[in-house]
Amino acid sequence: MAYYAGVDLGATNIRAAVADEEGNVVSTTDCDTPQGPAGIAVTEAVLDSLREACADAGIQPTELRAAGVGSIGPLDLAEGAVENPANLPDTIDRIPLTGPVGKLIASDRVYLHNDTNAGVIGQRFHSERNPDDMAYITISSGIGAGVAVDGNVLSGWDGNAGEMGHMVVDSRGRRTCGCGRDGHWEAYCSGNNIPEYARMLAEDGESVETSLPLSDPEFSAKDVFDHAETDAFAERVIDRVAHWNAVGVTNVAQAYAPIVVYLGGAVVLNNEELVVDPIRERLDDLVFNNVPDVQLTTLGDEVVLKGAIASALTDGTGDQSKVR
Ligand SMILES: [Zn+2]
Repeated sequence: MAYYAGVDLGATNIRAAVADEEGNVVSTTDCDTPQGPAGIAVTEAVLDSLREACADAGIQPTELRAAGVGSIGPLDLAEGAVENPANLPDTIDRIPLTGPVGKLIASDRVYLHNDTNAGVIGQRFHSERNPDDMAYITISSGIGAGVAVDGNVLSGWDGNAGEMGHMVVDSRGRRTCGCGRDGHWEAYCSGNNIPEYARMLAEDGESVETSLPLSDPEFSAKDVFDHAETDAFAERVIDRVAHWNAVGVTNVAQAYAPIVVYLGGAVVLNNEELVVDPIRERLDDLVFNNVPDVQLTTLGDEVVLKGAIASALTDGTGDQSKVR
């Protein structure tokens, strides 16, 4: 039996898994992501997670044939590391991954991807038709995409292709994104930004009557979606969010001609009908070329972990024919 490993390195959680040669998960582990003192502490936690997953599977790390890592960014692929991650404390400058993981498993078959690229690899591998042309888009605290074109998963020279959340969708630039630039998709539609966007829309209105707790500092995207059926203003916010989401997905469709677009991330997973359906309904009017099939991810919140495993199995591609 041959074994492979996958790691999902997030800002709050590290998940690792060992799988067999068909991608069936044998063991998983879960731990908090260290918030310091330096990046090497995160590296150590990743290695510990892998050791633990191996122990649970009854194997030595050196018995792993390959490992895939889906990680928060930004990445420095040449160095095999995360560089100055945006969502971790400033003391964490660099998180070396490829080298240390390779040493642990005694193999140079370590594949590092940003999390959305791991997502597209996982979704590709687990789709019946193993599509060559597809996209995976996550809408959670941020927005990002992983894209496969002609069977190639696009990573870019430094591993940071697919930062679609920072595409300009609103040329008026009314909302400023967390990255400091104006008009980005994420500034309107990510879980972190929907509350601020709702407040902006409320200020636009002459007299907004709403039961949304707009002035409460705890006001969240969940409040907006929870009031979808009972509050006309919440409905309007959801409609505007759907508009910008559809513009974003349209831009991805025009740029890469995916046959299918899978959507994932907490905002999507928690509100499928209010997020996915309205995007689907709008694409016919917006997309000039082939209108992609828009689907909810079939891998839920394990899409990055499953993608990391799929990457290990397929030399970083998600191509089922490359399993070895
Ligand atoms: Zn931005």
